[in-house]
Amino acid sequence: MADIIKLLPDHVANQIAAGEVVQRPSSVVKELLENAIDAGADTIKLIVKDGGKTLIQVVDNGSGMSETDARLAFERHATSKITSAEDLFNLHTKGFRGEALASIAAIAHVELQTRTTTMDVGVLIKIEGSQIKEQEMVVTPEGTSIAIKNIFFNIPARRNFLKSNQVELRHITDEFQRVALVHPTIAFQFYNNGSEYFNLPSESFRQRIVHIFGAKMNEKLVPVAEDTAVVKLNGFICKPAFARKSRGEQFFFANGRFIKSPYLHHAVVSAFEGLLKPEVYPGYFICLNVDPKSIDINIHPTKTEVKFDDENTLYAILRSAVKHSLGQFNVAPVLDFDRDQNLDTPYAYEQKQASLPKVSVDASFNPFAKEKVSTTQKGGIKVALPKKPRTEGWQELYAFDTVENNVFSSIQVESDLTETSLFDTEGTTQDATHQTFQLQRKFIVSTVKSGLLLINQNRAHQRVLFERFLEEITIKKAVSQQLLFPEVLEYTSTEKAQIMAVEEVLHNLGFDIDYSPKNGVEVRGVPTLLPEGSVALVLEDILASTAIGQEEIGFSQAEQMAKIMSNALAVKTGQELSSEAQLGLLNDLFACKEPKLSPTNKTIYTIIGVNELENKF
Ligand code: ADP
Ligand code: MG
Repeated sequence: MADIIKLLPDHVANQIAAGEVVQRPSSVVKELLENAIDAGADTIKLIVKDGGKTLIQVVDNGSGMSETDARLAFERHATSKITSAEDLFNLHTKGFRGEALASIAAIAHVELQTRTTTMDVGVLIKIEGSQIKEQEMVVTPEGTSIAIKNIFFNIPARRNFLKSNQVELRHITDEFQRVALVHPTIAFQFYNNGSEYFNLPSESFRQRIVHIFGAKMNEKLVPVAEDTAVVKLNGFICKPAFARKSRGEQFFFANGRFIKSPYLHHAVVSAFEGLLKPEVYPGYFICLNVDPKSIDINIHPTKTEVKFDDENTLYAILRSAVKHSLGQFNVAPVLDFDRDQNLDTPYAYEQKQASLPKVSVDASFNPFAKEKVSTTQKGGIKVALPKKPRTEGWQELYAFDTVENNVFSSIQVESDLTETSLFDTEGTTQDATHQTFQLQRKFIVSTVKSGLLLINQNRAHQRVLFERFLEEITIKKAVSQQLLFPEVLEYTSTEKAQIMAVEEVLHNLGFDIDYSPKNGVEVRGVPTLLPEGSVALVLEDILASTAIGQEEIGFSQAEQMAKIMSNALAVKTGQELSSEAQLGLLNDLFACKEPKLSPTNKTIYTIIGVNELENKF
C-alpha cells in the first residue's frame, strides 16, 4: 500500500492552530496588547470598529521589528521570547508560544507597519490568509502598528458564529480592562467606532482601578498587601457594604497576567464570611507575584487558568491577608483572627426577629392541694378522678357563643358564593368583612369557605407587578413619570453597554434614559409603577442578571425584564404591611391571570382545608 500520510501545508496548519488561539475578536485584542507590552511600549492605542469584526488595530511605541523579524513574526513557532525549554520555567514575558501572529494572519487581513530605533524608514507588510501580498518601505513612527481587518473572512462558519457587535465589544472591553489594570504605568487609549472609550494615563494601580470603574470606586477600596517567601501579594478589596450581585469586579493577576481561579476566589470570599448579605460577591483586585518556576501558565491555550505549585499555602496566605485588611481598616468589627467562628453571627441572623421565650404554665396547678389527684365522695367510696384542667369548658361561660355559632352557620351560605367568585372571574374579596393578618411578616393569612388561606406576600406581589409590567411592555404604552431632578448614575463602560443592550425594553417599560453622559447614564423618567429612589436598585438587578451567562436575552427579553423588575420591587419577607395593604394585595393577586404561581413558578398561596384542620383536633 502506498504511503498516505502527508505533512499539512503551513497555511492549513496555521488555520487549524487559529481555532485554538483566536476564538473571537477579543482574543486578537489580547494577543496584540500583550505583544505591545512585551515590546516595552509605554503608550498603547487600541482601535476597534464594529465589535472588532471590521477592524482591530493596536499601535505601540515599543521596540519595533527589523525587516526580517517583521516577516518572520508571522511564521508558526517564531518567537523572540524564549530559546530553550528551560526558559519556559522562567517566563518574564506575556507571549512565548510564537503562534499568535501566525494564527491571526491565517484568518484575517493583516497590515503591519514597524520601525526600530536604528532604522531610518520602517517596513510595511500586508498579509491575507497567511500569504504575503505586499511589502514596502514606509515612513512610520518608531514602534509597531498592526491592523487586523475582516476577521474570519475565509472561515464563514466562524464569522457567522460571532455575536452582535455589542456583545463582541463587551468581550473586547473585558480583555482590555484586564490588561490595562495590571499594567497601570503604561498609558492606554481605546477608540471604538471613532469615539474615545478609555483614555488612561500612566498612573498607580489604585488610580487605574478608579479610572476604569468610576470615581465612586475610590471610597470602596481597601488595600491588601502581604510579603512572604511563597508569594508577594498586593492590591485592593472592596468594602463589604459595596458587594454586588454581579460578579463583575473580581480580578486576580498572577505575575502580570489575568487569571481565573475558583479556589483563590473562595479564599477571598471566605475571608469576608459573616460580613456579606446573601447572594452578593465582594469585589477585589489582587496581584500575586510568585517565582516563575512555581507557576505553570501552560495548561490552557488562552491562558487564564494557571497551576500553582503550592495552592494550599497560597489559599491560606490570601485568606489571612484579606481578613487582616478588613480588620485593620476597621471594616470588620473584630480584629482577633483566632476567635471562635461559632461566635460569629451570620448576617442572615441579624435580621431575624427575636422570638419571645415560651413559658408553659399548668393552669390546673394548685399549690394548696395535698395530692396530685383530686378526690371525691361517690356513694361513700373514694374515687380518684383524672386530672382535669381547670380551663376546660370555659367557653360555656359565655352564653352568646352558641348564638354566634348559629350566626356563622347562616353566613356560610353567603361565603359559599364569595368563595366561588373569589377564584373565578373578578375573584376578589370585595366583602368588607374580610379579615387578614400577617404571619411572621411573611404570609398573609385569611379565610375562604374551604379553609385557611395562606399567601406568601413576596411572591404574590411579584406576580401582581409582573403582570402589570408585562402588559406595559407588550402594549408599549407604559406611562413614564418625568423626574423633577434627573438622576445621574455612574457606570463603567461595560455596564453601560449592558444597559444599552436592553435600551428598547427599558424604553417600553417607561424609562426615559439619556445615554450621553460619559461615565454613566442620566435617568429622566421612570415607570409610574416604580417607587421613588429605586431606579439604581432596579438597574443593578438588570446588570446582575445580564452579566450571568445570558449574552443576548433575545425574544423573551420583555418577560425577563418584567421578572427582574418585579423581583426587585416586590415587598420582601420581613416587611410589615398595613391591613389595607394586605387586603389590597389579596385583591390584586386574585385579579391576576395566574394567581397560583409566581413569575419564577413558585407556589404563591395554599389553602389548609377545614378537613385537614379538623384532623388536627
Ligand atoms: P509570541 O508573542 O508568543 O512570541 P507572537 O506570534 O505573538 O508570538 O509574536 C511573534 C514575535 O513577533 C514576537 O516574539 C516578537 O518578537 C514579535 N512581535 C510581535 N508583536 C510585536 C510588537 N508589537 N512589537 C515588537 N515585536 C513584536
Ligand atoms: Mg504574542
